[in-house]
Amino acid sequence: MERLKGANNRRVKSMNQSTVLQYIRGKGQVSKAEISDRTKLSFTAVKNIIEELVSYDLICEVGYDESSGGRKPLLYQIKSDRFYSIGLHLSVSRIRVSILNLEGKMHHQFETETRKEWLQSNEIIDRMIECIERALIDANVERDKILGIGMAIPGPLDPFAGIVLSPPNMKGLEHVRLKELVEAHFGLETFIEKDANLIALGEFWHGAGRLNHNVFYLDADIGIGSGFIIDNKLYHGSPYGAGEIGHGTIHIDGPRCNCGNYGCLEAIASGLAIERRAGEEIRRGADASFRTLYLDNENSIDIYTILHAANEGDELAGRLLLESARYVGIAIGNAINLLMPQMIVIGGTLTHAYPAYFDQVKEVALNRILSSFADNARIEKAQLGMFGGAIGAGMLVLENFFDKDLSEGLPEAASRSQEGQAAPGAVTGQAGE
Ligand SMILES: [Zn+2]
Repeated sequence: MERLKGANNRRVKSMNQSTVLQYIRGKGQVSKAEISDRTKLSFTAVKNIIEELVSYDLICEVGYDESSGGRKPLLYQIKSDRFYSIGLHLSVSRIRVSILNLEGKMHHQFETETRKEWLQSNEIIDRMIECIERALIDANVERDKILGIGMAIPGPLDPFAGIVLSPPNMKGLEHVRLKELVEAHFGLETFIEKDANLIALGEFWHGAGRLNHNVFYLDADIGIGSGFIIDNKLYHGSPYGAGEIGHGTIHIDGPRCNCGNYGCLEAIASGLAIERRAGEEIRRGADASFRTLYLDNENSIDIYTILHAANEGDELAGRLLLESARYVGIAIGNAINLLMPQMIVIGGTLTHAYPAYFDQVKEVALNRILSSFADNARIEKAQLGMFGGAIGAGMLVLENFFDKDLSEGLPEAASRSQEGQAAPGAVTGQAGE
């Protein structure tokens, strides 16, 4: 019974500590009185927790708040250079890596082209590891300050087992135990998650979705995916797999999709679908600035050629992109009617590379939802650009760290450097660097 009571006390203490830490994290700079007021914890409890977090070197004093009389209260914030996280985003065209500080701000970023042949073999795993190594060297961050690695990978995948399942166009990752492989290489805790989920998480923390509790994100890119944050947490489904809006049927007699079904949104409106449609139109005799290029070599035309042509005023390219935006707008309308999130964010290459795309998606979506909801629906363009996935991947590592039970001292996450050295202070909780 006593043991049970002890365990309960520790649990409550850990929950309170986590509440305080998360509040500081969300707010930036904050005083003890404000934390106590907003979290409903007593001032003494907050004072004790703050002392402990300062002793772990996780937060620090940053000056004084304006006072309404009496002593000016001290302000605290997360100690940004205490720890770092690594986020990697793999797409068919790029590998992007971000190194975030403990506040979640970008410390260093790195990007390289993904070659198609890498994706067809295990070589892609070595290339991703190399990119992380390279980013670590360039960023000049000590290994024992790295909390872990987050990876945004095209789905489907099992985030809990850390296994990639069968992403289209990436034979080299089929059924790969990616989490295990990367952990074995770096000796750092590693998380894998579907790319759209992590772009959603990035936008939720630092982009168009910030200050909202419920955010729906749609990624209009080579493929189409979505991710959502419900009550400040990434929503996985049970056990996982939520967000496959790209495989919702949008045209009952539509073309065959990569997934085997017919008429999926992805088969009609994705970057790959637009490439296919452009080819069909040209073979039927349609004119386009890239017509000769296509007739010489069909493989020379991809979605980037089409986006470029549309921006140069090419009529066919512009028409195909807006047609895609109409379907995506309808899908967004469906999502709003189903979920009514606080904020809907649209991103991906199609959105970022062709300005009229977003306007069309938004207009169609607002026309398709119940008119009584239209005033409350907020639809915004993603703000983190093409680095959203790498930022979200780094945020996933930080989320996990801040969710940990710190009541017995810091977790050893940071002490597992490749050399096997314990981070100074990581076990004892002393400021050690
Ligand atoms: Zn499909």
